[in-house]
This record gives sequence, C-alpha cells and structure tokens, in this order.
Amino acid sequence: MQAKSGVIVVLSGPSGSGKSSLINKIEDKLDHYYISISTTTRPVRGQEVNGEDYFFVSKEEFLQDIKDNYFLEHAVVHGNYYGTSLRPIQTALKEGRLVLFDIDVQGHAAIRDKFPDIITSIFITTPSLAELKHRLSGRATETKDIMQERLSIAKKELSHIKEYDYVLVNDDFEQTVNALLDIIQAAKLKKSAVEIDDFVSKWLQN
Ligand code: 5GP
Repeated sequence: MQAKSGVIVVLSGPSGSGKSSLINKIEDKLDHYYISISTTTRPVRGQEVNGEDYFFVSKEEFLQDIKDNYFLEHAVVHGNYYGTSLRPIQTALKEGRLVLFDIDVQGHAAIRDKFPDIITSIFITTPSLAELKHRLSGRATETKDIMQERLSIAKKELSHIKEYDYVLVNDDFEQTVNALLDIIQAAKLKKSAVEIDDFVSKWLQN
C-alpha cells in the first residue's frame, strides 16, 4: 500500500526534556515533512528567529487570530498563549507529508481528537525529576522562578503520559534519536481507516 495522505507525529514532554534538540537532530534524516511552526505570545528566547522557531505575536493579535478561527488548537502554557494554525497543516497532509508537532499535552489531546486515524504520539522525558532540574538549571535563559514553575508544570504533564503511544526516556541522546527515527518510520506505515477501506475494495476487484 502506498501512503496517500500524510501522517502526524506529536512530540510532547516537559521543557528541558530535549524535544527541540531531538527535532533539530533528526531534521536532515527526514524527507517530505513539515514541522509545524506554532504562534506564541511568549517573548523571544536566546537565538530564536521569528517565523522559524515560532511566529511571535502580541496577545491582541493572538486573540484576534482565535476570533478568526485561525487555529487548529490553542492553549495557555506557562502563562503564555500557544497555537497551531490550521491551513499549513491541511496543506502538508494533502501533500502526503509527515507533519511533526512539538506541542504540550493539551495540544496533543486536541490533535488526537481531530486526526485519530493518522496520529502517532511520543512523550519525551528525562529519567527523573532531579535530572530535569539539573538540565533546566543549566539553561542560562531560565530565571529561578521560571524554573520552579516549569518543574511544577512538568509534574502535571507527567500525569498525561499514558495518553501517548510511546514514551522515550531521553537519557542517552543518540539512542533516543535512533528510537525516535524508528517510531517515525513506523508511523509512516500506519494506515488510516479510509485508506484501508479503499485498499480492501480495490483488492476485491482485482
Ligand atoms: P517553549 O516556550 O519552551 O518553547 O514551549 C513551552 C511548551 O509549549 C512546550 O511544552 C511546547 O511543546 C508547547 N507548545 C509549543 N507550541 C504549542 C502549540 O502550538 N500548542 C500547544 N498546545 N502547545 C505548544
């Protein structure tokens, strides 16, 4: 069976679990993919580039986009708005692309709801809370208050771990990269119910 429509792979996990580094690392090993660029009201961090890491907008612009039905899903994370725009996702899926998301647990639930057939989800975590603390304290961009908040949000996020198809404990980075690529490979072979029905009816005719 040839893949006709696209597939979705969602990556979630606490800030500091290594999602962004993993995505950066695997990018050149993927083909025919689209990485969803979210819109956010949070301030630019470090070397981030508008239109590459996020679309950075004001709260007013974000609220207007909600009114205009621009988002497939949106959520408040760490006190800032984050949202995924619908149009580029629809286009990428129609083109048969692998669509990769780095979104929180609320976003995952919304995407699973909308695309139950074609979603594969992965929860990325550190081996322990202590390790997460250690990694976050190494980030020059985090103040103490922000770090405390991120840790308490991480604990809440962990309570959603069972909603995911796979859990990757990001201990050895290279091993996690390989496991992630394996899961993506399997996700691409996953067939939606529509494709299977189509295949069966053609199979019966020939
Ligand atoms: P950060 O500010 O560290 O880049 O991201 C904070 C959290 O927001 C992460 O857990 C990330 O996965 C999540 N996030 C980023 N974009 C979106 C989005 O479009 N929707 C939702 N629901 N969460 C997002």
